[in-house]
Amino acid sequence: MRFASFSFNNNQLLCPEPLAGQYNLQSPSFISISQLSSLEIPPLNEHYHYSTELQHYLQGKLLLLDELPFSLELIHEHYVNGYVGYEKAIVKNKQSYRCERCGNTIQRLFASFSCARCQSECIYCRKCIVMGKASQCTPLVSWRGPTKINEPLNEPLKWDGFLSKGQQIASDEVIKAVEQQSELLIWAVCGAGKTEVLFQGLKRVFEMGKRVCIAAPRTDVVLELFPRLKKVFPEISLSALYGGSDTKEQNASLVISTTHQLLRCYNWFDVLVIDEVDAFPYSIDPMLSFAAQRAAKNSAAIIYLTATPILLYSGKLLRTNFLM
Ligand SMILES: [Zn+2]
Ligand SMILES: [Zn+2]
Repeated sequence: MRFASFSFNNNQLLCPEPLAGQYNLQSPSFISISQLSSLEIPPLNEHYHYSTELQHYLQGKLLLLDELPFSLELIHEHYVNGYVGYEKAIVKNKQSYRCERCGNTIQRLFASFSCARCQSECIYCRKCIVMGKASQCTPLVSWRGPTKINEPLNEPLKWDGFLSKGQQIASDEVIKAVEQQSELLIWAVCGAGKTEVLFQGLKRVFEMGKRVCIAAPRTDVVLELFPRLKKVFPEISLSALYGGSDTKEQNASLVISTTHQLLRCYNWFDVLVIDEVDAFPYSIDPMLSFAAQRAAKNSAAIIYLTATPILLYSGKLLRTNFLM
């Protein structure tokens, strides 16, 4: 998409090329979004009647414009009123490129094509191509308006199992991490029951009306966790995100996602649990670490589960470690 940048009602606005007719622009110059020096978002117009369908679809996400099943007119009207932000998918820094969707900076994973939309050679990211083409003229779109608040729930956990002494200590640490919005690393050997160790902490999350994402390295882990958690939290809205899943619904209180699908999530979860943090491909792919961190709110509690000891994650030492 090419945009023109112009001054309107004391704001600097972007206008997508197909909507130029709405404004009386004097000899507008349209350029690819990646070439614009700044991307201001107009201030929020609190009197604007925003679309709750768009809010529901877009909140907590960062999507390519092409992924939105709404008209450009509607999306742009929300941008003008401060409810939607446009961001560059590919940023050029001197001679190197960076993909803002997946964090890729490996230059050989960028390629160019002759692009009809921006009418020039357009760079795109090959690293995250399975999620759709993030190119220099593709805006990433996010929701900037109010977001839906979840209702706190009473007694959401339906489980009559019990925890061993070691599991109980770990479970208490999970509750503490959730309440204090801190980081926790749990080392537990396979078969030690680390899923059960999460139950009380998840219960606390839902009692507070917050949202949690469990990120797993592979689809089979997502499919294994989904029925187990559905059974013990029967009243919780729960969704599973993986390549080919029917639902892309992430407004649920509990989302279980492959790390790839997390690339579409943005500043949304109050608690992020990263399962099998040492497992392939998570440990060796910075894209998935990037996606997980961005999907969580800045203040989120982050709980790492691992079967093998690791001391460093994302280049920083975790404050709290717990060995089960
Ligand atoms: Zn990318
Ligand atoms: Zn292009």
